Amino acid sequence: MKITIVGTGYVGLVTGACLAEVGHDVFCLDVDQRKIDILNGGGIPIHEPGLDVVVARNVAAGRLRFSTDVAASVAHGDVQFIAVGTPPDEDGSADLKYVVAAARNIGKHMTSFKVIVDKSTVPVGTADRVSAAIAEELKARHSDLDYAVTSNPEFLKEGAAVVDFMKPDRLVIGHANDAQGQRAQQVMREVYASFEAAGHKIYWMDVRSAEFTKYAANAMLATRISFMNELANLADKVGVDIDAVRQGIGSDPRIGPGFLMAGCGYGGSCFPKDVQALVRTSQEYGHELKILQAVEDVNENQKHVLGSKIFAKYGKDLHGLKFALWGLAFKPDTDDMRAASSRVLIQELLHAGADIVAFDPVAIEEAQRVLALDFADAPELLKQISFAADPQAALPEADALVIVTEWKTFRTADLNQVKASLKHAVIFDGRNLYDPRSVKSLGIEYHAIGRAVLT
Ligand code: NAD
Repeated sequence: MKITIVGTGYVGLVTGACLAEVGHDVFCLDVDQRKIDILNGGGIPIHEPGLDVVVARNVAAGRLRFSTDVAASVAHGDVQFIAVGTPPDEDGSADLKYVVAAARNIGKHMTSFKVIVDKSTVPVGTADRVSAAIAEELKARHSDLDYAVTSNPEFLKEGAAVVDFMKPDRLVIGHANDAQGQRAQQVMREVYASFEAAGHKIYWMDVRSAEFTKYAANAMLATRISFMNELANLADKVGVDIDAVRQGIGSDPRIGPGFLMAGCGYGGSCFPKDVQALVRTSQEYGHELKILQAVEDVNENQKHVLGSKIFAKYGKDLHGLKFALWGLAFKPDTDDMRAASSRVLIQELLHAGADIVAFDPVAIEEAQRVLALDFADAPELLKQISFAADPQAALPEADALVIVTEWKTFRTADLNQVKASLKHAVIFDGRNLYDPRSVKSLGIEYHAIGRAVLT
């Protein structure tokens, strides 16, 4: 099938590459010339394991191309996936300007029936807005072409995006029940025919329910994390090991083991903005989502948990202290720094006068770009942070090691070597990577999340 992907970011590029991988003829559009140049030069603008191989294979096979040419992109695909960003607006609602712009472009240039697929995470009712934007453009051209808008939210995880896309737990597709909607359902069935044949279930539903399903999924996952973080903070006070509790409850099949790790808060481009957007939607309808408001508040608070532990030990003035910082990205296996907990910690430490030597396996360049923006009002503070080429190189002369991202390489670090390199053997672990008893037995002072009873 001929498919166009509008927006070649994390979701769009993975969607385009994976749909080409199953045999479709894919055209990826982006307004960012830099991204398209990198892709056409054989590079990949983001860090995503395995993506380079899939992209290279499908470009070589002639099934995948990248361009900024809007008219050509609309002409190419019978199916037009919209996978542009939906960042939070100032009031927390999803900003739909990129989605609507993409829809307008389709309306302006289409010359035949199109199925438009909202792949971006968008609030309930967005398909109607996309439809209205296309209708307006068609009307301006005195055209009565048919089209159908469907919703196909994406559930991939950064860091495992290719595997998640190729082997989805489920596919959710919302379509209308009128003639165009049913035609669109047939088209979508063809798009995902090889996935269905491989046993991946498609949940067909109405468009608004599909739009809502994505928010409900992220809101549930964020709720589990904030729930455990809140309990972890109490665990520290009452003398309970939160990790034992995690195992004790996660083994109950009604609860399940996933997303119960206590830590220094969730970040990324999805959970924070999607929880906020759902809360905002509820407010628009005069309905209060009390649990999700609390989930958001708890998470904001949790991003300060490492800073609080550091201030509790050293006091509020950190001049003369140096911290080794392991992990910058919001989670492992990505260079994504959006809403990363490291950014909150770095603000706190630098403003308190500390020096930082930071290491991340892939996110240093992106961190430098993002920190320059975060510290636009106080750029001189950035002189206090430098970046190391490997984890060990961050340690010498540091008063403590602070861990913010759970990269595998940190989990398997030789703690004897860590101790030998640090000026003082102290670890603040925001991801509970180690067994507190073993760390303690090495003579290392260990501050984890919800595990004080063992340290
Ligand atoms: P991204 O910022 O990485 O990519 C968006 C791309 O769209 C950018 O490259 C931008 O230049 C491009 N763009 C903007 N306007 C355009 C236009 N009019 N025409 C063509 N290109 C345009 O964003 P992302 O992380 O891929 O997220 C995209 C959507 O998918 C969001 O709604 C997000 O919530 C959702 N989502 C993201 C993830 C994730 O893990 N990143 C997972 C599931 C869903």
